[in-house]
Amino acid sequence: MDTIGKRARIIILLGPPGAGKGTQAKAIMQRYGIPQISTGDMLREAVKNRTPLGLAAEPIMKSGGYVSDDIINGLVEDRTLQADCVHGFVLDGYPRTVEQAKSLNQLLEKQRRPMPTVVNLQVEPEGMIRRISGRRTCRQCGRIYNIYFSPSQRDPLCDTCGGELFSRPDDDESIVRERLRQYEKQTQPLIQFYRELGQLEGLDGDAAPETVTQRVLEIFEGRKEQHAGS
Ligand code: AMP
Repeated sequence: MDTIGKRARIIILLGPPGAGKGTQAKAIMQRYGIPQISTGDMLREAVKNRTPLGLAAEPIMKSGGYVSDDIINGLVEDRTLQADCVHGFVLDGYPRTVEQAKSLNQLLEKQRRPMPTVVNLQVEPEGMIRRISGRRTCRQCGRIYNIYFSPSQRDPLCDTCGGELFSRPDDDESIVRERLRQYEKQTQPLIQFYRELGQLEGLDGDAAPETVTQRVLEIFEGRKEQHAGS
C-alpha cells in the first residue's frame, strides 16, 4: 500500500449502474488505504438492519428511484467525519444529482479538503444490462464477480473467503431499466456540472478492470501534481 500523503485524496467515480464503480472503488481503496464510501452499500446495510432510514429507503430502492438529497447528504457528511476518512475517501454512487454535488463541494470546503478528482466511467449501453444482471456479490467480504466476465472459480462461493455469492434484488432487469432512466435524467446533468468546473476526467470503462484502475490512478496522480505545482 502507498504511504499516506499529506494531501487528502478525494476521488469520485461517476458512471451508470454496472459501469464498474464498486470494483474500481475497492481497487483504489486498497492502493491508497482510504475508505470507499458507497451510499448504495450504506443504504443496503440500513435496509438489512431495519433502521428507520432503511425502512424509508427500501421501497424507493426497490423501484429504482432515488432517495432524497437531504437524507443522502446527511449520511455522507456523517460518514466523512469518521476517523478513517482523515486522509480522504473514494465516493461510489455519490453524488448522483447536481444538488448532491453542490452539497459535497460545500462540505469539502467546510472540512478544508481539496476539491475532488471526478472520473466518469463511460460504458457501451448494450453491455450494461449483462454487466448488471451477471453481477454477483459476496455476502461476507463484498467482493464483486460477474458470471459472464469475471466469474468466481468456486461459484456460487467466493474465491477469496468462501462466502455465499448473491444477486442484488435491484439488479433485476426491469428495475435496472428504471435505474438507467433515473441515471440519464438526474445524473447526466452532473457530468456537465463537473465539466464546467474543469474537474471531470472521462475514461473507457469497458476496458479490463485492471487497465481502468491503472488509468484512474494515473489521472489522479496527474491532477495531484497539477495542484501541487499551481
Ligand atoms: P447503487 O448501489 O449505488 O447502485 O445504489 C442502489 C440504490 O440506492 C439506487 O438505485 C438508489 O435507490 C439508492 N441510492 C444510492 N446512492 C444514492 C444517491 N447518491 N442518491 C439517491 N439515491 C441513492
